[in-house]
Amino acid sequence: MEDTVLNPTSSPQSSNRRAVRFDDAQIIIGLEVHVQLDTDSKLFCGCSTRFGEAANSQTCVVCTGMPGALPVINQRALELSIRAGLSLNCQIARSTKWDRKNYFYPDLPKGYQISQFDQPICGPGHLDIETSDATGQARRIRIERAHLEEDAGKSIHDESSRRQDSKIDLNRTGTPLLEIVTQPDIRTAAEAKAFLSELKLILNYIDVSDCNMQQGNLRCDANVNLHIPLGDEQIATPIVEIKNLNSFRAVERSITHEAQRQFEAWQEHGLTIADAPKQTRGWNDHTQTTTLQREKEDSADYRYFPDPDLIAVKIEESQIQEIESQLEQLPADLRKLLAEQYNLKSADASVIVSQGRGVVDYFLKVADGCEDSKIANNWIGQEVLRQLNESNQTIEQYPVSPQQFTDLLKLVIAGTLDQTRGKEVLNAMVADCISPEEAVQQLGIKPVDNNELVSLCEKLIDENQDVVEQIQSGNGKAIGMLIGKARKINPNANPGLVKAMLSKMISA
Ligand SMILES: [Zn+2]
Repeated sequence: MEDTVLNPTSSPQSSNRRAVRFDDAQIIIGLEVHVQLDTDSKLFCGCSTRFGEAANSQTCVVCTGMPGALPVINQRALELSIRAGLSLNCQIARSTKWDRKNYFYPDLPKGYQISQFDQPICGPGHLDIETSDATGQARRIRIERAHLEEDAGKSIHDESSRRQDSKIDLNRTGTPLLEIVTQPDIRTAAEAKAFLSELKLILNYIDVSDCNMQQGNLRCDANVNLHIPLGDEQIATPIVEIKNLNSFRAVERSITHEAQRQFEAWQEHGLTIADAPKQTRGWNDHTQTTTLQREKEDSADYRYFPDPDLIAVKIEESQIQEIESQLEQLPADLRKLLAEQYNLKSADASVIVSQGRGVVDYFLKVADGCEDSKIANNWIGQEVLRQLNESNQTIEQYPVSPQQFTDLLKLVIAGTLDQTRGKEVLNAMVADCISPEEAVQQLGIKPVDNNELVSLCEKLIDENQDVVEQIQSGNGKAIGMLIGKARKINPNANPGLVKAMLSKMISA
């Protein structure tokens, strides 16, 4: 069931269409993001939300939809939703209610999902994202709404050669989701990714969701179409919803592909938004293409009606204020703090903040302790992040405490350790969980006295007359060769001091 052809491809309109270039088209993107809230129990019953347990072991009469079972709202899910809404600059509803969204799915035994139709808990808001375009300006993406709903279960299809069984696991049924819906303000696949990255970071910082995409705790649908200039007009292509994108890469690639596909389809048959209903398409990671799933239902198809088992929720102003007072600094605030008060470049501040609150706290302790935020950033932004990455550890598991790291950097700042030796000391601290002093001792690092340094430099000059001549004839860089040799003879020799002494001796 592909799009029907209305206009013959050889018509005059079609040659006009063929004159338009893809680069003239504007991509219009809106996102619907489902985030699993970090609650211990489900939205309307006490069943656990723990991931990875035996199939159907976390179910009860409520979440499996047995007749007569009554749902009870999870207060924690409401609080987390309000916290998320406030962090996204949303208005919080004083009264919010529950609606049944009716549809059949094998993993939805009730035959309906409890959701929020016309009174979502979070109203309009916005999220500013940093973009890498030439202007360097932040882009404001408006949020239309965010509402609470319960998740469905999971169908497990037999992937073996026999392909006979499909099974249902209802452990996820009734898990609280916050669906965050943006306005169609996003203009590129990269912006969509930037929006999702920032959203994920914020929800992590405020402990609303771990946003673990492998476990399906953050899923995204993207609504995509094109605005294309055609003569004096601007036409819009039919809107396509790409469903269930579960990685940032899938979001980026599927949007890029879909925009190109819509453009080619429009050049071919000329269908606009007025000619065709909204479509749902799925993203295929193997073929890197979208394929038609169905013509999209609109809300009337779901026959929403208020859930008669649940009363409306009243939210007091005092409750909102209390949650707001507990909110800590958001990623954007911390980037600003690092840039303005710790003098980091904005790219460096972004790297630290994107690692999560633990790394920011670590950085702040070390930068304050050694009183040199640039050096703290160089070492944490490069060495520590590399080591965490290689060992697959979090900063909380990192064996070097902020105090020990501060002590190490103080030795570097004082010149007791040069960069290379400093890194050797750090590696020893990590490998053996020891202090910098212990690592210095273990590596046999001790200061080289002046006489020793003089005889080292004399020896280098005697044995490397060819290099000395190069330096004397104006090749200043050649001195690096001598410094490298000095390190081999005595690793404790400070390269800065060696260089200064050599220069003096050679030019004398
Ligand atoms: Zn249950």
